[in-house]
Order: sequence, then C-alpha cells, then structure tokens
Amino acid sequence: MSKKKLKEKIKEPTKDPIKEGIKSDFAKIVFNAKIVAGLFLLLLIPSVIMLFKDIDTIYGLDKDAWFRIVIVGFIIYVGNGYFFWKCPSCKKSPGRGWFRKNCEKCKVELS
Ligand SMILES: [Zn+2]
Repeated sequence: MSKKKLKEKIKEPTKDPIKEGIKSDFAKIVFNAKIVAGLFLLLLIPSVIMLFKDIDTIYGLDKDAWFRIVIVGFIIYVGNGYFFWKCPSCKKSPGRGWFRKNCEKCKVELS
C-alpha cells in the first residue's frame, strides 16, 4: 500500500453503520421537505401572479380558488414539518434548516 493511500485510510475511519443509517434517513427527510416546499412554492405562483398582474383566471381557476389551493398547500407544508421533520435517532425535532449538521436534542450527526 502506498503512503498516500495509507494516509487516506487513516483520515477516513471505518464508517459506523448506525451513524450512516441515521444520516441516510435524515437525507430522505430533507429530500421530502424540499419536495413539499417546492410544491408549495409552485402552488403559490399563480396567486402571486394574480396579485401583481391584472389576470382573473389561471388554468380556469380564479383568485379565490387559487387562494384555497395555497392554503391546502400550506397545511401540507406545515403538516409535513410537524409530522416528519424528526431526528431519525431521538424522533424529536432536530431544529430548523435543511443543512443541519447535528440534532439539537440528542446531538447525533445528521449530515
Ligand atoms: Zn436527535
């Protein structure tokens, strides 16, 4: 084994399968949160356009209909955060943000 390879091996300790499992679980949670947030923003677009431009309907739906859709999207967004934004290790909220390194509660590594 060359010296360089040996150094790399020392730098990267053997991965703990439990820790890696927690990280991949949290990666999925973050992915879901991004999808839901993206969907919510997408649903928000028609309402924002109608707010600033003089358009009465988009895809055959009026302002009120789009507003209701936004509310439903918001409920899904909040619900997803409430029910699924949990630390894979302690099952409590790990704190806000998609780029969390550690859980606020149990300090487990998340990414
Ligand atoms: Zn935790």
